Amino acid sequence: MPTATDPTSTTNPYSNRIVLTTYPSQSVANPIPLTWGSSTAATRGPVIVSRSKTTLSKRNAIGAHGGSYSIYTALAIASGDLEPNFRPNFLNTQPTFNFPYQDAWGDRNKIVSMDPFGHDIVKHYSQYLDEGIDVRPTIAVTRATMRVSEITDAITRGRIPIDGTIVLNSGGDVKVTKVAVEPVWYLPGVADRFGVSEKDLRRALFEHTGGSYPELITRPDMKVFLPPIGGLTVYIFGPPERVSDPRVRLALRIHDECNGSDVFQSDICTCRPYLTFGIEEAIKEAQQGGSGVVIYFRKEGRALGEVVKYLVYNSRKRGGDTADKYFQRTENIAGTKDMRFQALMPDILHWLGITKIDRMLSMSNMKHDAIVEQGIPIYERVPIPDDMIPEDSRVEIDAKIHSGYFSTGKPITEDDLKQVKGRGWESWEDVTH
Ligand SMILES: [Zn+2]
Repeated sequence: MPTATDPTSTTNPYSNRIVLTTYPSQSVANPIPLTWGSSTAATRGPVIVSRSKTTLSKRNAIGAHGGSYSIYTALAIASGDLEPNFRPNFLNTQPTFNFPYQDAWGDRNKIVSMDPFGHDIVKHYSQYLDEGIDVRPTIAVTRATMRVSEITDAITRGRIPIDGTIVLNSGGDVKVTKVAVEPVWYLPGVADRFGVSEKDLRRALFEHTGGSYPELITRPDMKVFLPPIGGLTVYIFGPPERVSDPRVRLALRIHDECNGSDVFQSDICTCRPYLTFGIEEAIKEAQQGGSGVVIYFRKEGRALGEVVKYLVYNSRKRGGDTADKYFQRTENIAGTKDMRFQALMPDILHWLGITKIDRMLSMSNMKHDAIVEQGIPIYERVPIPDDMIPEDSRVEIDAKIHSGYFSTGKPITEDDLKQVKGRGWESWEDVTH
């Protein structure tokens, strides 16, 4: 019996003629209508990206599900581990909390980088699923109990009480609602946010992904693109219905991934300390009847990736790690000091129904400005407490404050920056001087 991995296999899941791209005038281009910004899921229409034989003509979006993991799906199919026409069984996968409809869900300008109906496709699009059309969720809502050692420590030290509802015990178990979101881009809206033309955006995306998505060029009628990038996760402390309640105080931390610090606790930056401070403040706000939200974006190393990040670390440590040269080191290697582009970040706030932020647990002027530009006021900004800043990360934080990060401390001058020096490599066995 031949298998999918057998080179002599005669079972071919694909048509013999490879469709490299499609054009709006072709008979294979008969997309199911997708009207971004429609106020109901039914009038908006499902997002369909599958190129299977049954949906190739009905596709109304470019790209693939899974964000950066879409390539693993292809690998699983190529290796024979996954049936190309596999369809998920969605039994019992529905959200643990029904986020109430927000006007922003039906506003094509307010949400441009996620599918506002992506969490409830079984409820909204069952007729398509019944017809065998591959509609997939791009948002999932679940609940969990989590434990972070710094929170356990805060409980031990008496900073966080055990309330039995949010904080369950002295071990530090904390109840949380989690929302995972994969990126779904409405290209005209994304172009708008960056002040570029949709055509230029499409061309750049096409050219700089090795020409992977030719329909970005040939199908201007398809406006939605599922890019191969990481998404985000929302952590909600306290009852999730409070998040969109304007009468309730909200503490918010927007955090961009830093695996080296967040998980492995390297001390060259303030990422994990600020993250755990954000979680602590979010829990406290929820315990006082408010709401606490931490949103974790997969944008490793300012979205430059860990390879670039480590190259920058080396150039810093070998070139004399002073704060005045901090950004220059990154720019020398990456050509820019940051690729996180906070312009799309506020979409998730609109989706959650957040209309104001009482306490913003972030010093980033870029995050602040992006949120305020989207019409969401921030009443208070809370810097990371000084005693939580690891010694070797002073270089980074002072360089950031000098460049515009919010701080309640005294202003940092260019001369000050020259004096702020990171740890060297002197104690390493291969470094003799
Ligand atoms: Zn970091």
